Amino acid sequence: ITFLGIESSCDDTAAAVVRREADGSAVILASVVEGQVSLHAPFGGVVPEIAARAHAERLDHAVEAALSQAGLGLGDLDGIAVTAGPGLIGGLLSGLMLAKGLSAATGLPMVGVNHLAGHALTPRLTDACAWPYLMLLVSGGHCQFLAVEGPESYRRLGSTIDDAPGEAFDKIAKLLGLPQPGGPFVEREAASGDARRFRFPRPLLDRPGCDLSFSGLKTAVLRARDEVIAAKGGLTLQDRRDLCAGFQLAVADVLAEKTRRALAAFPVPLLAVAGGVAANQAIRAKLETVAAEAGATFLAPPLRLCTDNGAMIAWAGIERFLAGETDDAGLAARSRWPLDQSAAPMLGSGK
Ligand code: ATP
Ligand code: FE
Repeated sequence: ITFLGIESSCDDTAAAVVRREADGSAVILASVVEGQVSLHAPFGGVVPEIAARAHAERLDHAVEAALSQAGLGLGDLDGIAVTAGPGLIGGLLSGLMLAKGLSAATGLPMVGVNHLAGHALTPRLTDACAWPYLMLLVSGGHCQFLAVEGPESYRRLGSTIDDAPGEAFDKIAKLLGLPQPGGPFVEREAASGDARRFRFPRPLLDRPGCDLSFSGLKTAVLRARDEVIAAKGGLTLQDRRDLCAGFQLAVADVLAEKTRRALAAFPVPLLAVAGGVAANQAIRAKLETVAAEAGATFLAPPLRLCTDNGAMIAWAGIERFLAGETDDAGLAARSRWPLDQSAAPMLGSGK
């Protein structure tokens, strides 16, 4: 079966066409992602009003481009999947309105998808992954360990109590005058830095369990930066590299130790990662070691499927559809939607 997937929950306008073969494997026939980095760059962060307008302007085009790249018309589809939350409400509404319009006009079934389920099910889009598996979702807005036991079955083993790691990477980049989104730039600087020069804290390692924290780490980097500036009157390129390296190592150490605990609490044969921060090679390498120590396979999807995209939404829609789920015109957008309460939101449900 073949689904169109529509994603507009944050700052990427995305549409994709994905086909599921009879053997359960997936073919991404087209995946279009129209980013908004340059629109938000002057403000140093995503501006919800600008994102909402950009989605409204671009969604039609993204969907048309995806269908034409796939060489298909609406009549060739079996369904439409759309992100219903969590995320910025304006963008979610644009996506939902388009999906509802297309569904009403064609009679195709529509399936509302939780954006986090899209990330969490990505390993099954790229590989033949059996349930259950452990998912570490590390992105710009989220950080959580999920016990994934089925397309509708997620248990949170731990999550960040403050910032997401991607957010921390972005803030560190801002502190050090690097471009946004900061993750890849911090990683590049860190590659030639000395991670031992600054010793940053490993938050929450002294507490049992799998919860994480990153805001104290950010404050520690800010303080170290200011101390260097006070002592020398400015930051050299090498200071910046060393700060990035120390920060990245602290994030990687914390993620590694918490992943060790999560695998001990939920011993499964597969550890998968998703979210933009999973693109980080230093973090990937540590997680791979942790998985190997626990006798688990490590799976990291290709970068373009780690960050926000329509293919993961199309795929999650197919999985929900095959589990017997569809939604109707009452499907509502939800800015907050924890994955462990996965029922699709309804208009007027008061939530
Ligand atoms: P969410 O999916 O939680 O709504 P999001 O859409 O902002 O959040 P993603 O698109 O999955 O998140 O990822 C973007 C984040 O990933 C940004 O914060 C970015 O800095 C970070 N990131 C990207 N590449 C790297 C990297 N190489 N190292 C560290 N962080 C990275
Ligand atoms: Fe995302």
